Amino acid sequence: MATTAINLTPRDFKGKSDPDWCPGCGDFGVLNALQRAVAGLGFRPHEILAVSGIGCSSNLPGYFNAYGMHTLHGRSLAMATGAKMANHELKVIVTGGDGDGYGIGGNHFTHTARRNTDLTYIVMNNQIYGLTTGQVSPTSSLGMTTKSTPFGSVEQPINPITSAIMNGATFVARAYSGDVRHLADLIQQGINHKGFSIIDVFSPCVTFNLVNNHDFFKERVRKLEDDGHDTADWKTACEKAMLFGDTIYTGVFFEKERATLEQAEPVLREGGPLATRELGLDNEQAQKIIDRMM
Ligand code: SF4
Repeated sequence: MATTAINLTPRDFKGKSDPDWCPGCGDFGVLNALQRAVAGLGFRPHEILAVSGIGCSSNLPGYFNAYGMHTLHGRSLAMATGAKMANHELKVIVTGGDGDGYGIGGNHFTHTARRNTDLTYIVMNNQIYGLTTGQVSPTSSLGMTTKSTPFGSVEQPINPITSAIMNGATFVARAYSGDVRHLADLIQQGINHKGFSIIDVFSPCVTFNLVNNHDFFKERVRKLEDDGHDTADWKTACEKAMLFGDTIYTGVFFEKERATLEQAEPVLREGGPLATRELGLDNEQAQKIIDRMM
């Protein structure tokens, strides 16, 4: 019997609880954009898994109607890789912040990029640790005064865009959460891309980072597409990604095709998702394994 396709709206991806973010937090724009993006692409909630680590922004899966996992600090990409390997037909979206993803989880960021695991990673980059009330993060600007750096940060911030490109990510973009329409479009492009897609989103922490606030970004952001940027040109992409002055670029910096982890791995390539294959164990053997692991 033919079924009638029902078009879902962004509201259908609203979670059971409402965000407890501070009023004005940039993360509201990211949640809104994500809901618009998946509704626009025609997804159903059961087709998506949202995975996060720890932090204000990592609470996002709780506010989003899909399968969700709120995992350990910095380990969201590792958990998401496992889920994707078990069922590579699932659309796996990873959400979190700059401290979680580039600091505590920095090693996973590197290795997920080089493996080109087919995940969409949305990083709400507010250049500070918000949940723990305002300490310096891996993307805080040099000289920034925070609770943990009262005399100014002496550490060079990492650049997520150049890092992702150099480590082998195959879709690398940046957005500003105040431009929800542009962000939703970038998320859709990231989801449609086959391979590791990262969207680094300037998502202001209006409570603890009073420098990089909405006014700061509104005055500076400029879209790469308006300047005719060539997304195949990694060198120019890196040069443009390093600008952080009067002009800060958003948009797709770099994109290329390369085999994903599940395409490159013969066990996963042949035979379909592990989750739908025969286990190869009888019930007694399976129960013994479960008992040993519990
Ligand atoms: Fe957002 Fe900052 Fe408030 Fe956390 S502390 S919810 S990042 S504004």
